[in-house]
Amino acid sequence: MSYITIDGVHYTKEEYEAREEEKRLESLAQYRAGLEAKAQAEREGQRVVGDLGRAYSAYEDFLKENPGLALHLKDEDAVHHKVCEDLLKKLKKADLAPRCGYIKVNGSTCASPRMKGKEMCYAHDRWAGVRPQKMDLPPMEDANSIQVGLMQVARGLLDGQLEPRIAGLMLRCLKIASSNVAYTNFEGD
Ligand SMILES: [Zn+2]
Repeated sequence: MSYITIDGVHYTKEEYEAREEEKRLESLAQYRAGLEAKAQAEREGQRVVGDLGRAYSAYEDFLKENPGLALHLKDEDAVHHKVCEDLLKKLKKADLAPRCGYIKVNGSTCASPRMKGKEMCYAHDRWAGVRPQKMDLPPMEDANSIQVGLMQVARGLLDGQLEPRIAGLMLRCLKIASSNVAYTNFEGD
């Protein structure tokens, strides 16, 4: 029997493959945990920005009601005031930037800003240009959409819409997509 030797340890082909699969799953789990942490940080960031916005509007209202107070601000406060104002303007502008109209297969909308004069973000606009014409396949951007892709192929086969040879090739594409999906990033960050 042939062995594969790594760091002085011998593995059979099956053991080696199991080890590789385990490593793949582990890195996938790590990647997902990273994504979840990122999403959590984004939610927290949005909450803080919301608080800042509300506090600042309250502050503005207060200044309107107490116009004399602004005159007593020290220079340092005036600088802070200006910084906050600029920041708020930028945040409002970013918030108002139209978002991509693509709806993911899990029902959530794409949060990326849309391109000027287009309905979608850069990634989804590009996807629209390469999508197959014969079948309504979603962009293979996450595990959900690959799952839907699999179901489309199964349905195509059963309904006689797809030749088995073509279905086989599509399954191979989906397999490649599923091993790539942990490393793809369509959100542009
Ligand atoms: Zn998009």
